[in-house]
Formats: sequence, C-alpha cells, structure tokens
Amino acid sequence: MSYVLAKSQNDDIHKAGECGGAVTSILKYLLDEGIVDGVLAISPCDDVYDGVPTFVTNSEDLMKTAGSYHCAPTMIGDLVQKYLFDKKVAVTAKPCDMRAIEELIIRHKINKDNIYVIGLNCGGTVPPVAGRKMIDLFYEADPDDVVSEEIDKGQFIIELADGSEEAVKIHDLEQEGYGRRTNCQRCDVKIPRKANIACGNWGAEDGWTFIEINDQLLKEGKRLKAS
Ligand SMILES: Cc1cc2nc3c(=O)[nH]c(=O)nc-3n(C[C@H](O)[C@H](O)[C@H](O)COP(=O)(O)OP(=O)(O)OC[C@H]3O[C@@H](n4cnc5c(N)ncnc54)[C@H](O)[C@@H]3O)c2cc1C
Repeated sequence: MSYVLAKSQNDDIHKAGECGGAVTSILKYLLDEGIVDGVLAISPCDDVYDGVPTFVTNSEDLMKTAGSYHCAPTMIGDLVQKYLFDKKVAVTAKPCDMRAIEELIIRHKINKDNIYVIGLNCGGTVPPVAGRKMIDLFYEADPDDVVSEEIDKGQFIIELADGSEEAVKIHDLEQEGYGRRTNCQRCDVKIPRKANIACGNWGAEDGWTFIEINDQLLKEGKRLKAS
C-alpha cells in the first residue's frame, strides 16, 4: 500500500479544510484541469447538522464545501446514478457510499469510467434531529452554538462559537439511544479502500490529511488526464 501525508498549499483551503484541506485541493485540480465536469460534495446549509449534497462545476465554489459534515445524508451513489450518469464526476464518499457506488457500477447504473472517488475514512455519522437533541441533553451547550463536531478517540466532540470544546463518550451516548446511526454502530469498514484514494485524520498530525493511494495509476506516479 502507498501512503502520503498532504496539506493544501492554498492558505484559504487549508484553513477551511477539516484536516489538511488536501481533498478540496485535489477536487480543485480535477475541476481546473478539466478531468471532471463537476464535483459532488457536501455543503452546510442552515447549520452544521444540515449537510446538503452539492454539485459544483466552478472550482471557486468548492470553498463552501470544505470540512466534514457528520450529520449529512448517505446517498452519494444514488444521486450519481439518478442525476449524473452521463457526466464525468468526482465524488467524496464514506465507506458506505463507496459500497453503494461499487454495487451500482456492477449493475451498470454508474459508469466506472465516469467517476473518480475520493474516499473519506469514517468513524460514523449522526442523524441530524437526534444530534441536536443529544447536544441539548448531554452537553452544557445550545445546539445552535455548535460550529463543528467530530468523533475522536471514542468521544463525540463539539466546538462552540467561542472556541471552547465539550466531549462525551460515544459509548455513553449510545447506551442512552443517541450517538451514531444504528448502521454506523455496526459498520466494520472504516477505510474505503475501493475508492481511488482514502483520506482521513488517522495517522496524521493536526493540519495534515493522511491519504492512502489505492488507484494503480497514481501508485505508478502517473498524472490523471482530461479525456
Ligand atoms: C462523517 C465523517 C466521519 C469521519 N470520521 C473519520 C474518522 O473517524 N477518522 C479519520 O481518519 N477520518 C475521518 N473522516 C475524514 C476526515 O474528517 C476528513 O474528511 C479527511 O481527513 C479529509 O480532510 P481534508 O481536510 O483533506 O478534507 P476537506 O478539504 O475538508 O474536504 C472534505 C470533503 O469531503 C466532503 N464531505 C464532508 N462531509 C461529507 C459526508 N458526510 N459525506 C461525503 N462527503 C463529505 C466535503 O464536502 C469536502 O468536499 C470522517 C469524515 C466524515 C465526513
């Protein structure tokens, strides 16, 4: 297996990105070089609980999609097969999204030559409505004051607008019927190795993205080309 640690050289992207901003920079490269027609990613709408799948065709709009949205829906494969079948697209995909994409490729509902998948390692997602209620019940915080959330070392951590953080053990939340979606609790695929690359914070210091390279062409050091 090949691995790299990466970070964006663009300061704005590095700041907006969840880890090193490498994923947003790679998506920008794919768009700017004309390798893909568009990117299907997630952008926040009203708040951090509201992750909306967004199709971006202008790389300047990618800034709005940077970051990790732990309450976003899990329907990337479905959107590609229904609305983007005839386009060359790059998508960001958790392991469950990758499994759906793989299955849809087998069923000829997605053209494998038209899709470039940037995998995201995943410790689980949280349903948005229950997520807000959980913060109300288990944290000394107003759900509206949360600016970001993450799952790290067995804890669900929230960051508030004033920069402070609060953490509660996932195990304690899930014992009370909150925490991650039920499917996420039983999921045993944390790294989407069927994606072209798989990206995460595991194995990386703050400010860097850890990337596992699965794509044979990239392993051989060949550049992606526009068709
Ligand atoms: C729900 C979730 C859980 C994660 N858990 C872990 C973990 O436990 N361990 C670990 O090592 N890494 C985890 N990651 C990956 C990590 O948070 C970063 O996404 C990854 O390291 C890339 O960082 P970056 O700064 O390069 O990405 P950025 O430059 O910030 O780009 C991230 C891209 O992912 C897209 N995106 C955000 N949320 C979603 C989503 N829910 N579904 C699909 N696409 C999305 C964004 O729109 C953006 O295009 C998780 C990611 C998500 C979304």
